[in-house]
Amino acid sequence: MIKKILLGTGLLILGIIIGACGKQVTGADGYYFENESFRRTNFEVDVVLASSADDLKKLEAEHKVEVVPGYEVAAFSTLSMTSMHCTIYMIDPKVSYQPEWYGHELTHCIYGKWHTIQP
Ligand SMILES: [Zn+2]
Repeated sequence: MIKKILLGTGLLILGIIIGACGKQVTGADGYYFENESFRRTNFEVDVVLASSADDLKKLEAEHKVEVVPGYEVAAFSTLSMTSMHCTIYMIDPKVSYQPEWYGHELTHCIYGKWHTIQP
């Protein structure tokens, strides 16, 4: 009886280790890297600083950004495949410092649509 309990505990621990090995690493933005739709490492980047969250929302509307219901856009980017140009739209860090979103959007500039899952 005691041996069965110990064996069961050992399998449980092994299961936890295997489960942990297969888990994706999630960034500060709550996302994990899924796949690249392209890769480019040499391109121009413009940054547009919104003066407020409302200002960013106006920019979202201008660029027809699709927002998942229940989510609020913290930053977004537009990519040009023909001119090797990327523009990141973000709230001025003097207003709201959110570096995880700058990195998120720069990753879009490099890898395109790299995530599908919303955290
Ligand atoms: Zn994204």
